[in-house]
Amino acid sequence: MKYIVNPQYVLRKEEGKAIIMARQGYNTPAILNVIHPLYAMMLTFFDGREVTEIYKDISSYFSIEIEKVERHLTPLLDNDTVIHNGSSIFPPHILVPYNENKDTKPKRILPEYFTYEGEVIDLELSRLKAPVEIICNLTLQCVTSCVYCYADRKGNQNKKMSLDLIKKIISEAHEMGVVRFKLMGGEVLLYPHWEAVVRLLTQYGYQPDISIKKPLTEDEIIKWKALGATKDPIQISLDTLIESHLINILKVTPDYLKKIKETFILLDKHQIPYVVHTVLNRYNDSVEDMQSLYEFFKERTSLQGWMIDAAKCSMYNGLPYADYRARSENTVLIREYIKQINTEGVFNFKIKAPIVLWDFNKLSSADKEKIFNKRHLCSGNLCALYILPDGKVTICEELYWHPHFILGDLNHHTLQEIWDSPKAKELFYLKQSDIPQDSPCSNCEDFTSCRKYRHICWRDTILAYGKDKWYYPDMACPKAPQIPNDISMQ
Ligand code: SF4
Ligand code: SF4
Repeated sequence: MKYIVNPQYVLRKEEGKAIIMARQGYNTPAILNVIHPLYAMMLTFFDGREVTEIYKDISSYFSIEIEKVERHLTPLLDNDTVIHNGSSIFPPHILVPYNENKDTKPKRILPEYFTYEGEVIDLELSRLKAPVEIICNLTLQCVTSCVYCYADRKGNQNKKMSLDLIKKIISEAHEMGVVRFKLMGGEVLLYPHWEAVVRLLTQYGYQPDISIKKPLTEDEIIKWKALGATKDPIQISLDTLIESHLINILKVTPDYLKKIKETFILLDKHQIPYVVHTVLNRYNDSVEDMQSLYEFFKERTSLQGWMIDAAKCSMYNGLPYADYRARSENTVLIREYIKQINTEGVFNFKIKAPIVLWDFNKLSSADKEKIFNKRHLCSGNLCALYILPDGKVTICEELYWHPHFILGDLNHHTLQEIWDSPKAKELFYLKQSDIPQDSPCSNCEDFTSCRKYRHICWRDTILAYGKDKWYYPDMACPKAPQIPNDISMQ
């Protein structure tokens, strides 16, 4: 059988290692996998030829027995699960069958690209030499005013990125080998030059998936389709179809409900895929609200996913969390309801059921430790950057203009200059001696391993302890102090 490296993945060389990253795409993992560069060299041979021919070539190129080549590479042929081979980690379906009548012939990378002569092999994840993911916020303008809004909109609603700046950013990102380029708002489709931006992104091979709350007109849907941006689904936020509840949540006029329903029907008509994100809050945390959505979604033909999450405490909406959070007992009922729907097999995907957000103040040290040790790595400044509408660069979509995390300004510097700047490196390679004494991190014996590359969630720390306490521990860390802010679902 003929095989290629799955076109959904990109291989990139780093000092002493190679990385595999999924291209932009709905439901693809964002994380990076590190592999030995020798493996990367071998993978370059998978260019659509018969696997037996490829094995022979690899064997002769590296002067190793063919049995050894087979032993190492055969498990990677259309692997269903993640494969660990020594310290190298391969994502699912890294090598996939190639059909010359259907698939585009991949561009062959030469194995020499991954040679590592004179480099020390280091298979631990480390800060990349350039980002692979850019998230660009074009505007903070919205058509709704959601009760749980997490965006820093106050005083920033009129900021818009200039077309010249976004063009420069896209071209630099492409030159640096950025793999994923996402657009964000506010409402991306309220950005006056969105068509030009989407066109440019697709020309560079990026898939500009967007998230919307704005009802779409048929004209906009036709334009979106014509731009070729339909590989990934559009994400639509919809919290309920009970009109009075929706008005309370979004502060919209009554015609909103009719228009947003019409948007779904038009997307079905034009066969444009979409997924829905529902945020639970005090106005829609009932089974009836979810039922209103379910009854409507059952009839949809282009729906590809439905995720339900409980609203987190917002750093910016100026409201006490108690005013809008979902009730934990109602969230549990909704979870049960969704589990039940999932067993009925109405959709060809599983609905993501909501979870009750932890109250870390009530958890034992052992429970916190389990959660802390399983924490996701923070991609900000490790492999990703977030760009604000005024061209300022930060590390995370929820930190906005927090001065401690602003790495530079694209009106004055290039993306690479900002990535390589002392500010970016100092933030990433934080020194323990720079942590003020009132934080347990200042004298923690686990500091190096904790802060080496996985880091903590800065956003959660600030949410829990306050804007000026960015140097406090992650709120799940067993050494973290009691959380003074009311941010749990109770
Ligand atoms: S977050 Fe916890 S483990 Fe990490 S450095 Fe701070 S106190 Fe230590
Ligand atoms: S700070 Fe937290 S939310 Fe932001 S990128 Fe890092 S882990 Fe994600």
